Amino acid sequence: MKKNELGLPLEIEYCKKCNLINQRPTSINEYFHLPNSKQTTVEFTDGVCSACNFVDIELNKINWKLREKELKNLCDKYRKNNGEYDCVVPGSGGKDSVFASYILKYKYKMKPLTVTWTPNLYTEIGWNNFQKWLHKGGFDNYLYTPNPVIMRKLTRESTKNLLHPFQPFILGQKTFALKMASLFNIKLIFYGEVSGKGGKKISHNVKSFSDIKDQQGFEMDPLNGKKFSDVFIGGKKVEEYLDEGLSMNDLKSYKPLEIEKIKNEKMDFYYLGYFLKWIPQEMYYFSQEKIDFEANDVRTEGTYTKFCSLDDKIDGFHFYTFYIKYGHGRAMSDAVSDTRHGHITREEGKSLIKKYDGEYPIRHEKAFLDYISMDKVELINLCNKFRPKHLWDKISGKWVLKKKL
Ligand SMILES: [Zn+2]
Repeated sequence: MKKNELGLPLEIEYCKKCNLINQRPTSINEYFHLPNSKQTTVEFTDGVCSACNFVDIELNKINWKLREKELKNLCDKYRKNNGEYDCVVPGSGGKDSVFASYILKYKYKMKPLTVTWTPNLYTEIGWNNFQKWLHKGGFDNYLYTPNPVIMRKLTRESTKNLLHPFQPFILGQKTFALKMASLFNIKLIFYGEVSGKGGKKISHNVKSFSDIKDQQGFEMDPLNGKKFSDVFIGGKKVEEYLDEGLSMNDLKSYKPLEIEKIKNEKMDFYYLGYFLKWIPQEMYYFSQEKIDFEANDVRTEGTYTKFCSLDDKIDGFHFYTFYIKYGHGRAMSDAVSDTRHGHITREEGKSLIKKYDGEYPIRHEKAFLDYISMDKVELINLCNKFRPKHLWDKISGKWVLKKKL
């Protein structure tokens, strides 16, 4: 299939089972993400996306009893009986981290340390759920707030250069869990959902990070052997930030844990979603029951749900900018998952996506613009600069997708 200069298929296609657009990129190594980086996109076979096939196998062909037994063995192997923590669960207090930490602690009798890289700008509901997670769930937690002046600066750069406001958060959060594990001499780290559901090309037999070979964004050494000063944050070389007067100390929170340490300390990272059936909606009901998890009282902008990704005021812009670049917004994110899990039909998903996808997130607009020191005109012009030509048409002053769902 023909692709544009950024690797996106020139012909737009929607999955005939879940409505996913074929422009959706799989993961990229963010330390080498530049404005002209080529993306790889989700695979389609006979009109069906790889994520649909993934979930289909998960729902119908996996022996979950056997998988749970594997989890029990893994826990037995790592469980410490001297009162120390035996695993790390990174999270924000959203439904997935609530489920993971709760089940590991109370069902499998582990002693998880929960760790949190702060959102850019906490929402009230995000903060409340975070507190409930710890207070009602009974967990030890380290909340880390990297220097917000630096995080803002990096977020502005990643928005300006890549239209990717979430990148500094992603980089920091990913590496923070490992650093905390190393600090506390913990070898076992649990992530939640397996990445295959995001449409990434990952096999069903992947249970740990180290099983994923040759896949960008999943490198054990994300620096690919380079010096930290030679990689990029927000599409700009670390060295350049240093030349501008930032210190290595200002940026160290974004520097990954050294590969030698990971190897020497024999750390391993597992997806809990490999061992336990991971159904997002059920995670929500579970969290509601166990810690009184709150959904929003209003629909989240850009989608029809009330309980996904609620903690950060810039979440809405993460999804909005994704929509600009790939024609894939927040409603699509929720609807494809709900369709694959059978909560809604393909037709229902379609009309929800048509109705809400790409809705501009006005609620936290001011907070976001202040945060990245931009005005609205600047942001809108920037967005328009990032619209791929094969995706968008401007009709009577309005931007529309060339091929509609
Ligand atoms: Zn699909």
